[in-house]
Amino acid sequence: MKQEDKIFLTQLLAIDPEDGLLKTWAGPEIPAASWEEAEQYCRENMGFLSVIGEGIGQDEAWAGGPVQCPLCAHEWVSVRPATTERLECPNCENMVEPIEK
Ligand SMILES: [Zn+2]
Repeated sequence: MKQEDKIFLTQLLAIDPEDGLLKTWAGPEIPAASWEEAEQYCRENMGFLSVIGEGIGQDEAWAGGPVQCPLCAHEWVSVRPATTERLECPNCENMVEPIEK
C-alpha cells in the first residue's frame, strides 16, 4: 500500500446460506490511488466486486438495512458507508438514491 493510497469500499452479491436469498454484502476494502484504479483492481482480481465508496479510515460509520430502488421498486438489503448517497440497484443496475425502508 503506497503512501498516497486511499481505501475504497466494495460490495458484492452473494447467496445468504441462512435463507438462500441473493443479498448485497460489504466486500473487502481496496487500497488504491483513485476510484478508477480501485475499479480496475476489482475487474482484474475480483470481478464480482463493485466499488461503492471511498473509505475515510477505521472509524467510518456504516449504514445497513432494507432499501428500495426508486426506479424499479426492487427491494434489497444494503450495507454501505453512512456517507454513501447513491447505490447501484442490483435489479436494474442504475445508480440510484435508495429509499430507506
Ligand atoms: Zn432498480
